[in-house]
Amino acid sequence: MEIIHVSAECYPMAKVGGLADVVGALPKYQVALGHIAKVVMPMHRTKFLYNNDWEVVHKGSFPMGSAFFDFTIIREKNNKLGFDLYCVDINGLLDREKVYTYDDDTERFTAFQIAVTEWLSKWEHRPDVVHVHDHHTALIPFMLKHCYAYRHISNIRTVLTIHNAQYQGWMGWDKATYLPAWDTWKWGLLDWDNIVNPLACGVKCADKVNTVSPGYMEELMYAANGLENLFNYERGKCSGILNGIDFAVWDPATDTYILDNFSVKDFKHGKALNKKKLCDDFGFEIKHPLFVFIGRLVGEKAADLLPEAISKAFENSKTKFSFLILGSGEPSVEKALQDIHQYWFGYYHSQFEYNEKLSHQMYAGADFLLMPSRVEPCGLNQMYAMRYGTVPVVRRTGGLKDTVIDFGEENGYGICFNYATVDDIVYSIGRSLELYADKVKMDEVRQRMMEINNSWENSAGRYIDLYNSIL
Ligand code: ADP
Repeated sequence: MEIIHVSAECYPMAKVGGLADVVGALPKYQVALGHIAKVVMPMHRTKFLYNNDWEVVHKGSFPMGSAFFDFTIIREKNNKLGFDLYCVDINGLLDREKVYTYDDDTERFTAFQIAVTEWLSKWEHRPDVVHVHDHHTALIPFMLKHCYAYRHISNIRTVLTIHNAQYQGWMGWDKATYLPAWDTWKWGLLDWDNIVNPLACGVKCADKVNTVSPGYMEELMYAANGLENLFNYERGKCSGILNGIDFAVWDPATDTYILDNFSVKDFKHGKALNKKKLCDDFGFEIKHPLFVFIGRLVGEKAADLLPEAISKAFENSKTKFSFLILGSGEPSVEKALQDIHQYWFGYYHSQFEYNEKLSHQMYAGADFLLMPSRVEPCGLNQMYAMRYGTVPVVRRTGGLKDTVIDFGEENGYGICFNYATVDDIVYSIGRSLELYADKVKMDEVRQRMMEINNSWENSAGRYIDLYNSIL
């Protein structure tokens, strides 16, 4: 089977969050299952682009609104990622360093999708499945089916994976003229509440739709940022497939970012050495339990609750502990996290940046990883943490609910709480400290988590089953 993944991100070419990890791993595991899997993404100006060899495979052009764009498709020559990686270049639109947050993102991603569809329409053969990811690529199923220029490839099957339904790519109806001429009787497919909604359009037009965990799909039926009715109406073609983790990248036994490699057999020594490095780097005492938070500092992740929750936990707790934050996001949250430094010197530090190496060191060296998320479609951090022997402290929501069992339950290994509130976080930090004090239990929990196999091997096959159901 030949599968073309279309995505805005793909690790290690360009990463903002979990989407990149998924699109950088899933195709590799599909190739291992004997399929042809390819990824096509915008040619962001990243280190990976400049450090690798590329060849031009296609050139084309298309009109968009009143402008006319030339595009070039290049392919990474040495199969560095274990699958073919293609990038689309469009001068003036896709030649940027960052993936998102430009004022003209609507134009950028619409043009990207047109270029990909144009390219596909010129292929001499047809791929079996076009697999699009999130709203940045969710107009492609509509274009394939309803733009006149692509009629000859309208029978290619499409799958939409929703990594996050909060962001839907809304655009005014004036921008619908950007799309190549389409059957205007089908305008309703583009529309949701009098605005063009690419994610909603993808849900309506793709042959299958899935979220990155079963729990999140259930949640979308009643909390989908305005699309609840749509998910209920389309539930027949919707499902949830839990993300996996890429063992080639996330393995404490081989990870080159961490100080000392370890496995489930010798984790005590390995974790202690990695913890010492982190504590030395940030001025913490190694004897104190170490909590970390890694992620986007936004409301979805409940990052706004952290300053008060951390301060309260420090004030209330008889046991001393340390807390390290890595992330960036809303300026008000960064400021509040920065402001509490002065009160908890030697116990608390926040690092406002994107730092892949430090994130690996934190998974390896920490005792606990806090994820109080309000919304968590799957969450990869908790799975990485578990693989590195770091106990996840998570709110029961979306994929967190699907992947973490509280240590108080049979065969449990994490710490779970129900509400994204300061009190629940403080209470859970308290429970974590109690667990930490019980060395035997803590080691037992660590061992149990590290033995869990959350590899993509399991989930990659489920995607193949999904494709087979529409072929
Ligand atoms: P998201 O909602 O952001 O996609 P996920 O849990 O699915 O959340 O994936 C987050 C990914 O991004 C993980 O690989 C995590 O380690 C990484 N990450 C998030 N913030 C940072 C950061 N500041 N520095 C390094 N890695 C980060």
